[in-house]
Amino acid sequence: MTVRVSLGDRSYDITIENGALDRAGELLAPYAARGRFIVVTDRNIVPNQLYRLETSLTAAGIASAVEVLPPGESTKSWAMLEKLTDALLSYGVERGDTIVALGGGVIGDLVGFAASILKRGCRFVQVPTTLLAQVDSSVGGKTAINSKAGKNLIGAFYQPAHVLIDPTTLDTLPPRETRAGYAEVVKYGLIDDADFFAWCEANGAKLLAGDPEARAVAIAKSVGAKARIVGEDERETSGRRALLNLGHTFGHALEAETGFSDRLLHGEAVAAGMALAFRFSAAQGLCPAENARRVTAHIAAAGLPATLQAAGVDADGATLVGHMKHDKKMEGGRLPFLLARGIGQTFLDKQVDLTAVEAFLDAER
Ligand code: ADP
Ligand code: ZN
Repeated sequence: MTVRVSLGDRSYDITIENGALDRAGELLAPYAARGRFIVVTDRNIVPNQLYRLETSLTAAGIASAVEVLPPGESTKSWAMLEKLTDALLSYGVERGDTIVALGGGVIGDLVGFAASILKRGCRFVQVPTTLLAQVDSSVGGKTAINSKAGKNLIGAFYQPAHVLIDPTTLDTLPPRETRAGYAEVVKYGLIDDADFFAWCEANGAKLLAGDPEARAVAIAKSVGAKARIVGEDERETSGRRALLNLGHTFGHALEAETGFSDRLLHGEAVAAGMALAFRFSAAQGLCPAENARRVTAHIAAAGLPATLQAAGVDADGATLVGHMKHDKKMEGGRLPFLLARGIGQTFLDKQVDLTAVEAFLDAER
Protein backbone atom coordinates (compact mmCIF):
# COMPACT_ATOMS: atom_id res chain seq x y z
CA MET A 1 0.00 0.00 0.00
CA THR A 2 0.99 3.61 -0.43
CA VAL A 3 0.59 6.45 2.06
CA ARG A 4 1.17 10.02 0.93
CA VAL A 5 2.70 12.78 3.03
CA SER A 6 1.12 16.01 1.71
CA LEU A 7 3.55 18.90 1.93
CA GLY A 8 3.01 20.83 -1.30
CA ASP A 9 5.95 20.47 -3.67
CA ARG A 10 7.77 18.40 -1.06
CA SER A 11 5.05 15.75 -0.88
CA TYR A 12 6.19 12.14 -1.04
CA ASP A 13 4.98 8.57 -0.97
CA ILE A 14 5.59 5.87 1.58
CA THR A 15 5.45 2.37 0.12
CA ILE A 16 4.65 -0.38 2.63
CA GLU A 17 5.02 -3.84 1.15
CA ASN A 18 6.32 -7.22 2.26
CA GLY A 19 9.29 -7.88 -0.03
CA ALA A 20 9.65 -4.24 -1.11
CA LEU A 21 13.41 -4.48 -0.63
CA ASP A 22 13.60 -7.16 -3.33
CA ARG A 23 11.63 -4.88 -5.65
CA ALA A 24 13.57 -1.71 -4.77
CA GLY A 25 15.08 -1.49 -8.27
CA GLU A 26 11.61 -1.31 -9.75
CA LEU A 27 10.01 0.81 -7.02
CA LEU A 28 12.83 3.35 -6.93
CA ALA A 29 13.52 3.38 -10.69
CA PRO A 30 12.07 6.90 -11.17
CA TYR A 31 14.94 8.29 -9.09
CA ALA A 32 17.58 6.59 -11.23
CA ALA A 33 16.76 8.48 -14.41
CA ARG A 34 19.50 11.07 -13.98
CA GLY A 35 22.01 9.54 -11.64
CA ARG A 36 23.44 6.86 -9.42
CA PHE A 37 22.40 5.52 -6.05
CA ILE A 38 24.66 5.69 -3.01
CA VAL A 39 23.51 3.37 -0.26
CA VAL A 40 24.54 4.18 3.31
CA THR A 41 24.01 1.49 5.93
CA ASP A 42 25.49 0.07 9.13
CA ARG A 43 27.58 -3.02 9.68
CA ASN A 44 24.78 -5.09 11.25
CA ILE A 45 22.53 -4.57 8.25
CA VAL A 46 25.15 -5.67 5.71
CA PRO A 47 24.84 -9.44 6.31
CA ASN A 48 21.09 -9.30 6.97
CA GLN A 49 19.50 -6.97 4.44
CA LEU A 50 21.97 -5.12 2.21
CA TYR A 51 22.34 -7.92 -0.34
CA ARG A 52 18.60 -7.82 -1.02
CA LEU A 53 18.74 -4.15 -1.97
CA GLU A 54 21.95 -4.54 -3.98
CA THR A 55 20.63 -7.55 -5.90
CA SER A 56 17.47 -5.69 -6.79
CA LEU A 57 19.24 -2.49 -7.88
CA THR A 58 21.70 -4.46 -10.00
CA ALA A 59 18.91 -6.45 -11.65
CA ALA A 60 17.20 -3.17 -12.55
CA GLY A 61 20.45 -1.86 -14.05
CA ILE A 62 20.85 0.87 -11.42
CA ALA A 63 24.49 1.67 -10.63
CA SER A 64 25.14 1.90 -6.92
CA ALA A 65 27.91 2.40 -4.38
CA VAL A 66 27.78 1.46 -0.71
CA GLU A 67 29.14 3.22 2.37
CA VAL A 68 29.09 1.16 5.59
CA LEU A 69 29.18 2.88 8.98
CA PRO A 70 29.52 1.44 12.49
CA PRO A 71 26.21 0.68 14.26
CA GLY A 72 25.04 2.50 17.38
CA GLU A 73 24.02 5.90 18.65
CA SER A 74 27.63 7.16 18.68
CA THR A 75 27.48 7.14 14.87
CA LYS A 76 25.21 10.22 15.04
CA SER A 77 28.25 12.44 15.59
CA TRP A 78 30.06 15.38 13.99
CA ALA A 79 32.97 13.04 13.29
CA MET A 80 30.79 10.55 11.37
CA LEU A 81 28.96 13.35 9.57
CA GLU A 82 32.31 14.61 8.32
CA LYS A 83 33.46 11.12 7.36
CA LEU A 84 30.21 10.46 5.51
CA THR A 85 30.06 13.77 3.64
CA ASP A 86 33.75 13.39 2.68
CA ALA A 87 33.05 9.88 1.39
CA LEU A 88 30.00 11.02 -0.59
CA LEU A 89 31.97 13.91 -2.10
CA SER A 90 34.81 11.57 -3.01
CA TYR A 91 32.30 9.48 -4.98
CA GLY A 92 31.64 12.70 -6.85
CA VAL A 93 28.02 12.84 -5.70
CA GLU A 94 25.86 15.02 -7.92
CA ARG A 95 22.46 16.61 -7.33
CA GLY A 96 20.83 14.04 -9.61
CA ASP A 97 22.13 11.15 -7.50
CA THR A 98 20.05 9.53 -4.79
CA ILE A 99 21.36 8.79 -1.32
CA VAL A 100 19.66 5.77 0.20
CA ALA A 101 19.53 5.44 4.01
CA LEU A 102 19.22 1.69 4.69
CA GLY A 103 18.95 1.13 8.43
CA GLY A 104 17.39 2.16 11.69
CA GLY A 105 16.90 5.58 13.19
CA VAL A 106 20.64 6.14 13.56
CA ILE A 107 21.31 5.75 9.83
CA GLY A 108 18.13 7.63 8.85
CA ASP A 109 18.87 10.63 11.08
CA LEU A 110 22.55 10.92 10.10
CA VAL A 111 22.11 10.28 6.39
CA GLY A 112 19.10 12.61 6.17
CA PHE A 113 21.10 15.40 7.78
CA ALA A 114 24.10 14.74 5.51
CA ALA A 115 21.77 14.86 2.47
CA SER A 116 20.30 18.16 3.68
CA ILE A 117 23.67 19.94 3.73
CA LEU A 118 25.51 18.18 0.92
CA LYS A 119 25.59 20.51 -2.09
CA ARG A 120 22.84 22.44 -0.26
CA GLY A 121 20.52 19.49 -0.54
CA CYS A 122 20.67 16.11 -2.27
CA ARG A 123 17.78 13.75 -2.86
CA PHE A 124 17.52 10.97 -0.30
CA VAL A 125 15.34 7.93 0.19
CA GLN A 126 14.62 6.26 3.51
CA VAL A 127 14.61 2.47 3.66
CA PRO A 128 14.02 1.86 7.38
CA THR A 129 14.93 -1.57 8.78
CA THR A 130 13.86 -1.26 12.44
CA LEU A 131 10.29 -1.15 13.68
CA LEU A 132 11.00 2.18 15.34
CA ALA A 133 12.28 3.71 12.11
CA GLN A 134 9.43 2.20 10.06
CA VAL A 135 6.64 3.53 12.27
CA ASP A 136 8.22 6.77 13.35
CA SER A 137 11.62 8.23 12.52
CA SER A 138 11.78 7.60 8.76
CA VAL A 139 8.62 9.65 8.16
CA GLY A 140 8.44 13.38 8.74
CA GLY A 141 11.84 14.79 7.86
CA LYS A 142 13.43 15.23 11.28
CA THR A 143 17.16 14.65 10.81
CA ALA A 144 19.90 15.17 13.38
CA ILE A 145 23.16 14.28 15.01
CA ASN A 146 24.09 14.46 18.70
CA SER A 147 26.49 16.94 20.26
CA LYS A 148 28.23 17.31 23.61
CA ALA A 149 25.22 19.28 24.83
CA GLY A 150 22.73 16.52 24.09
CA LYS A 151 20.87 14.30 21.65
CA ASN A 152 19.47 15.52 18.33
CA LEU A 153 20.43 19.14 18.98
CA ILE A 154 22.10 19.67 15.59
CA GLY A 155 19.83 18.96 12.66
CA ALA A 156 17.36 20.07 10.06
CA PHE A 157 13.86 19.41 8.81
CA TYR A 158 14.59 17.76 5.48
CA GLN A 159 12.04 15.52 3.81
CA PRO A 160 12.97 12.35 1.92
CA ALA A 161 11.87 11.87 -1.68
CA HIS A 162 10.38 8.48 -0.81
CA VAL A 163 10.13 6.04 2.10
CA LEU A 164 10.30 2.35 1.26
CA ILE A 165 9.12 0.10 4.09
CA ASP A 166 9.60 -3.64 3.87
CA PRO A 167 8.24 -5.23 7.06
CA THR A 168 10.13 -8.47 6.31
CA THR A 169 13.39 -6.68 7.16
CA LEU A 170 12.21 -6.99 10.78
CA ASP A 171 12.70 -10.77 10.61
CA THR A 172 16.38 -10.27 11.46
CA LEU A 173 15.90 -7.50 14.04
CA PRO A 174 16.80 -8.45 17.64
CA PRO A 175 13.57 -8.94 19.70
CA ARG A 176 14.53 -6.24 22.19
CA GLU A 177 14.71 -3.71 19.33
CA THR A 178 11.31 -4.87 18.06
CA ARG A 179 9.75 -4.35 21.50
CA ALA A 180 11.33 -0.90 21.75
CA GLY A 181 9.83 0.07 18.37
CA TYR A 182 6.47 -1.29 19.48
CA ALA A 183 6.33 1.44 22.15
CA GLU A 184 6.01 4.01 19.36
CA VAL A 185 3.20 1.93 17.79
CA VAL A 186 1.24 1.95 21.06
CA LYS A 187 1.84 5.70 21.21
CA TYR A 188 -0.43 6.32 18.20
CA GLY A 189 -3.31 4.57 19.95
CA LEU A 190 -2.77 6.53 23.13
CA ILE A 191 -2.57 9.88 21.30
CA ASP A 192 -5.92 9.90 19.55
CA ASP A 193 -7.12 6.44 18.62
CA ALA A 194 -8.58 4.41 21.49
CA ASP A 195 -9.76 1.71 19.04
CA PHE A 196 -6.20 1.21 17.85
CA PHE A 197 -4.99 0.94 21.45
CA ALA A 198 -7.61 -1.79 21.99
CA TRP A 199 -6.31 -3.46 18.79
CA CYS A 200 -2.79 -3.35 20.31
CA GLU A 201 -4.06 -4.97 23.51
CA ALA A 202 -5.61 -7.78 21.45
CA ASN A 203 -2.82 -8.21 18.85
CA GLY A 204 0.40 -6.87 20.39
CA ALA A 205 1.67 -10.29 21.43
CA LYS A 206 1.14 -11.67 17.91
CA LEU A 207 2.94 -8.69 16.39
CA LEU A 208 5.90 -9.10 18.74
CA ALA A 209 6.07 -12.78 17.85
CA GLY A 210 6.56 -11.75 14.20
CA ASP A 211 3.07 -12.38 12.81
CA PRO A 212 3.26 -10.76 9.34
CA GLU A 213 -0.39 -9.73 9.24
CA ALA A 214 -0.42 -8.03 12.66
CA ARG A 215 2.88 -6.36 11.80
CA ALA A 216 1.55 -4.99 8.51
CA VAL A 217 -1.62 -3.63 10.14
CA ALA A 218 0.35 -1.89 12.89
CA ILE A 219 2.88 -0.37 10.49
CA ALA A 220 0.19 0.87 8.11
CA LYS A 221 -1.86 2.36 10.94
CA SER A 222 1.17 4.06 12.53
CA VAL A 223 2.54 5.42 9.27
CA GLY A 224 -0.91 6.71 8.31
CA ALA A 225 -1.19 8.57 11.61
CA LYS A 226 2.32 9.96 11.38
CA ALA A 227 1.88 11.09 7.76
CA ARG A 228 -1.36 12.88 8.64
CA ILE A 229 0.13 14.70 11.63
CA VAL A 230 3.26 15.71 9.70
CA GLY A 231 1.10 16.99 6.84
CA GLU A 232 -0.80 19.17 9.33
CA ASP A 233 2.22 20.51 11.20
CA GLU A 234 5.53 19.81 9.47
CA ARG A 235 7.71 21.85 11.80
CA GLU A 236 5.93 21.37 15.11
CA THR A 237 4.60 24.91 15.22
CA SER A 238 0.85 24.46 15.71
CA GLY A 239 1.17 21.94 18.52
CA ARG A 240 -0.32 19.11 16.47
CA ARG A 241 3.02 17.40 15.78
CA ALA A 242 3.97 17.89 19.43
CA LEU A 243 1.43 15.17 20.29
CA LEU A 244 3.96 12.70 18.87
CA ASN A 245 6.14 13.52 21.86
CA LEU A 246 3.82 11.67 24.24
CA GLY A 247 5.97 9.91 26.83
CA HIS A 248 9.08 11.61 25.53
CA THR A 249 9.56 14.22 28.27
CA PHE A 250 9.53 11.65 31.06
CA GLY A 251 11.36 9.28 28.70
CA HIS A 252 14.07 11.83 27.96
CA ALA A 253 14.78 12.20 31.68
CA LEU A 254 15.13 8.41 32.01
CA GLU A 255 17.45 8.26 29.00
CA ALA A 256 19.55 11.08 30.41
CA GLU A 257 19.74 9.31 33.78
CA THR A 258 20.91 6.09 32.12
CA GLY A 259 23.43 7.97 29.98
CA PHE A 260 21.61 7.43 26.63
CA SER A 261 23.11 3.96 26.65
CA ASP A 262 22.06 0.39 25.87
CA ARG A 263 20.85 0.16 29.48
CA LEU A 264 17.63 1.79 28.27
CA LEU A 265 16.75 2.04 24.58
CA HIS A 266 14.81 5.06 23.32
CA GLY A 267 11.63 3.03 22.81
CA GLU A 268 11.95 1.52 26.28
CA ALA A 269 12.27 5.00 27.78
CA VAL A 270 9.22 6.14 25.80
CA ALA A 271 7.25 3.13 27.05
CA ALA A 272 8.00 3.97 30.67
CA GLY A 273 7.46 7.65 29.89
CA MET A 274 3.96 7.02 28.50
CA ALA A 275 3.01 4.97 31.55
CA LEU A 276 4.32 7.78 33.77
CA ALA A 277 2.45 10.44 31.76
CA PHE A 278 -0.82 8.51 32.21
CA ARG A 279 -0.26 7.89 35.91
CA PHE A 280 0.70 11.55 36.40
CA SER A 281 -2.47 12.58 34.53
CA ALA A 282 -4.50 10.27 36.79
CA ALA A 283 -2.77 11.64 39.90
CA GLN A 284 -3.71 15.15 38.76
CA GLY A 285 -7.32 14.09 38.40
CA LEU A 286 -7.24 14.59 34.62
CA CYS A 287 -7.67 10.99 33.55
CA PRO A 288 -9.49 7.97 35.01
CA ALA A 289 -7.15 5.81 37.12
CA GLU A 290 -8.48 2.77 35.26
CA ASN A 291 -7.08 4.15 31.97
CA ALA A 292 -3.65 4.62 33.54
CA ARG A 293 -3.82 1.04 34.84
CA ARG A 294 -4.68 -0.28 31.36
CA VAL A 295 -1.75 1.58 29.78
CA THR A 296 0.64 0.35 32.45
CA ALA A 297 -0.59 -3.24 32.12
CA HIS A 298 -0.24 -3.32 28.32
CA ILE A 299 3.26 -1.85 28.35
CA ALA A 300 4.37 -4.40 30.95
CA ALA A 301 2.68 -7.24 29.03
CA ALA A 302 4.67 -6.25 25.94
CA GLY A 303 7.87 -6.81 27.91
CA LEU A 304 8.56 -3.09 28.13
CA PRO A 305 9.36 -1.13 31.31
CA ALA A 306 6.34 0.64 32.81
CA THR A 307 7.90 1.89 36.04
CA LEU A 308 11.08 3.67 37.12
CA GLN A 309 12.25 0.45 38.70
CA ALA A 310 11.63 -1.61 35.57
CA ALA A 311 13.51 1.04 33.58
CA GLY A 312 16.45 0.57 35.95
CA VAL A 313 16.25 4.14 37.23
CA ASP A 314 16.73 4.87 40.91
CA ALA A 315 16.94 8.68 40.82
CA ASP A 316 14.74 11.03 42.84
CA GLY A 317 12.22 13.49 41.41
CA ALA A 318 14.54 16.49 41.62
CA THR A 319 17.23 14.71 39.61
CA LEU A 320 14.82 13.61 36.89
CA VAL A 321 13.14 17.04 36.64
CA GLY A 322 16.67 18.48 36.43
CA HIS A 323 17.22 16.37 33.29
CA MET A 324 13.90 17.57 31.86
CA LYS A 325 15.05 21.18 32.12
CA HIS A 326 17.67 20.42 29.46
CA ASP A 327 14.94 19.33 27.04
CA LYS A 328 15.04 21.29 23.79
CA LYS A 329 11.31 21.94 24.17
CA MET A 330 11.81 24.19 27.21
CA GLU A 331 10.06 27.50 26.58
CA GLY A 332 10.79 30.45 28.84
CA GLY A 333 11.45 28.25 31.85
CA ARG A 334 8.36 26.10 31.25
CA LEU A 335 8.24 22.67 29.75
CA PRO A 336 5.21 21.74 27.66
CA PHE A 337 3.94 18.30 28.76
CA LEU A 338 1.79 15.80 26.91
CA LEU A 339 -0.92 14.72 29.33
CA ALA A 340 -4.08 12.69 28.85
CA ARG A 341 -7.76 12.93 29.66
CA GLY A 342 -8.01 9.26 28.78
CA ILE A 343 -6.77 6.66 26.31
CA GLY A 344 -6.79 8.33 22.87
CA GLN A 345 -7.22 11.77 24.43
CA THR A 346 -3.76 13.27 24.70
CA PHE A 347 -3.29 17.03 24.93
CA LEU A 348 -0.44 19.51 25.28
CA ASP A 349 -0.32 21.26 28.65
CA LYS A 350 2.03 24.24 28.73
CA GLN A 351 1.32 25.07 32.36
CA VAL A 352 2.55 21.98 34.16
CA ASP A 353 3.99 22.72 37.58
CA LEU A 354 7.39 21.04 37.70
CA THR A 355 7.24 20.77 41.49
CA ALA A 356 4.13 18.58 41.10
CA VAL A 357 6.06 16.42 38.60
CA GLU A 358 8.90 16.14 41.08
CA ALA A 359 6.60 15.07 43.92
CA PHE A 360 4.89 12.56 41.62
CA LEU A 361 8.22 11.02 40.62
CA ASP A 362 9.29 10.76 44.27
CA ALA A 363 6.06 8.88 44.98
CA GLU A 364 6.74 6.58 42.00
CA ARG A 365 10.14 5.66 43.32
P1 ADP B 1 16.56 2.81 16.07
O1 ADP B 1 15.91 2.54 14.78
O2 ADP B 1 15.80 2.26 17.21
O3 ADP B 1 16.95 4.23 16.23
P2 ADP B 1 19.29 1.80 15.42
O4 ADP B 1 19.40 2.50 14.15
O5 ADP B 1 20.35 2.06 16.44
O6 ADP B 1 17.91 1.99 16.17
O7 ADP B 1 19.21 0.21 15.17
C1 ADP B 1 19.14 -0.67 16.26
C2 ADP B 1 20.12 -1.83 16.09
O8 ADP B 1 19.56 -2.78 15.20
C3 ADP B 1 21.46 -1.45 15.51
O9 ADP B 1 22.45 -2.23 16.13
C4 ADP B 1 21.32 -1.82 14.04
O10 ADP B 1 22.56 -2.11 13.46
C5 ADP B 1 20.45 -3.04 14.11
N1 ADP B 1 19.57 -3.30 12.96
C6 ADP B 1 18.81 -2.39 12.30
N2 ADP B 1 18.03 -2.99 11.41
C7 ADP B 1 18.28 -4.31 11.49
C8 ADP B 1 17.75 -5.46 10.84
N3 ADP B 1 16.75 -5.37 9.96
N4 ADP B 1 18.26 -6.67 11.17
C9 ADP B 1 19.22 -6.78 12.12
N5 ADP B 1 19.74 -5.74 12.79
C10 ADP B 1 19.27 -4.51 12.48
ZN1 ZN C 1 10.51 8.50 19.94
